[in-house]
Amino acid sequence: MIDLTICEALEKLKSGELSATELTRAYLDRIEKYGDELNCYITRTPERALADAELADKHYADGTARALEGIPIGMKDLFATRGIRTTAASHMLENFVPEYESTVSQKLIDAGTVLLGKTNLDEFAMGTFSKTSYFGAPVNPWQMERKLTAGGSSGGSSSAVAGGLCMAATGTDTGGSIRFPSAITGLVGMKPTYGLCSRWGCVAFASSLDTPGPIARTVDDAALMLSAMAGHDDKDSTSESAGFNAHTPLESILGDGKKLRIGVIRELNNVKISDDMQKLFNDRIADLKSLGAEIVEVSIPNILDALAAYYIIAPAEASSNLARYDGMRYGLRVEGSDLIDTYKKTRAAGFGDEVQRRMIIGTAVLSSESYEVYFMQAARVRRMIADSFNAAFEQCDLIICPTSSGTAMPLDSDLTPLEYYALDMFTVAMNLAGIPACSVPAGIAQNGLPLGLQVMGKRFDDLRVLQLAKHIEQFAGVDNRPTKIMGK
Ligand code: GLN
Repeated sequence: MIDLTICEALEKLKSGELSATELTRAYLDRIEKYGDELNCYITRTPERALADAELADKHYADGTARALEGIPIGMKDLFATRGIRTTAASHMLENFVPEYESTVSQKLIDAGTVLLGKTNLDEFAMGTFSKTSYFGAPVNPWQMERKLTAGGSSGGSSSAVAGGLCMAATGTDTGGSIRFPSAITGLVGMKPTYGLCSRWGCVAFASSLDTPGPIARTVDDAALMLSAMAGHDDKDSTSESAGFNAHTPLESILGDGKKLRIGVIRELNNVKISDDMQKLFNDRIADLKSLGAEIVEVSIPNILDALAAYYIIAPAEASSNLARYDGMRYGLRVEGSDLIDTYKKTRAAGFGDEVQRRMIIGTAVLSSESYEVYFMQAARVRRMIADSFNAAFEQCDLIICPTSSGTAMPLDSDLTPLEYYALDMFTVAMNLAGIPACSVPAGIAQNGLPLGLQVMGKRFDDLRVLQLAKHIEQFAGVDNRPTKIMGK
């Protein structure tokens, strides 16, 4: 049962072959068995899940089933959930129980999903291996004995979906946090157009970059999840009215004489990637050509500066967003000798090293001496990158590139902060430009681990992005059934 995709499970739920309660129990059992080892959930909500499932079964019985009725999901623990603690994987919010529901999680409730729990992540979504979590890092279900990273920051979500501890999960992507974890766990991770999914009720990291989106096993499943999550929200001033509504199975956009121009980015040709990634990239391009796609080289002249711009803009916004955790209103409070001392003690105890590093960088680049030379310069680079993507999409319909240079690394890899930042090489530019980008399995490397490719489109071209991703998925044919990955 654990190996069913969402599309397959919905068929069985509709026909009555399977009940939502049976399905939910199967997932709760699996969480019971492997939840500790994978450390993919911070908080489990079995009672809520069974109540959701019971309601779903009623809806099926009386013919009022909604789009994702009875589908058990995980929720990244960055989305506020009413009455369920929401930690952002930080000591600062360890005991925070919101009185409100984020828009995205509310939409998933309204679509009939079953909530299994809150998934692990990097503290405040800052990181790449989910190692900055106050609750310890989640583990990649692939070659589990090797204790590889499931990626970050949505590493609990990728670990849970790949291991079969939920059917799909939410993620957020500020600089790659949906796509990188998905790529190295053999999953589909969709970062939609900025503004398509509301950020309201989602703990803020860098507000002009933060993008909620789904992590799922197949492109069709991701499209179904995104359809439920997207939509205009009056409570988020950057929310767009476009909405998203996919009918699955997604239509093919290649073959039968359909012409599609697919761009590859010239400046990335010289970036070092593993031989496996290079081979899979070439293979998938050859496959797409065989279906009649035309491959065109496009130029994003400043793409190699995207990392530097991102690591100025994201910390700048983070330093401002995280100023609210001062021990006064909610979250941790450590009493000091006076007000200032209380601030200091609270923030020193509540935030981990990486979060503190980001706030220091952010505060520095926003200071009056540095604002013009760092922050404004980064903002200009950001504008140039967005303009170059717009120009590139005059020459091609969609663009593809690797999601990462290589496969999942061991959790105990000893990297410097800059080496971690460099792993975001292929993902941050799309956040700076606000364009949709989907990581889809590209194939399996020599070492038996999965690798992903990204498909990008112009703003609001999310559907076409997913449609091309589906072609790549079919060519790659990666078997990501959880019982196969875990061998149990
Ligand atoms: N790894 C990037 C960072 O640490 C991206 C994180 C994210 O997308 N939330 O900032």
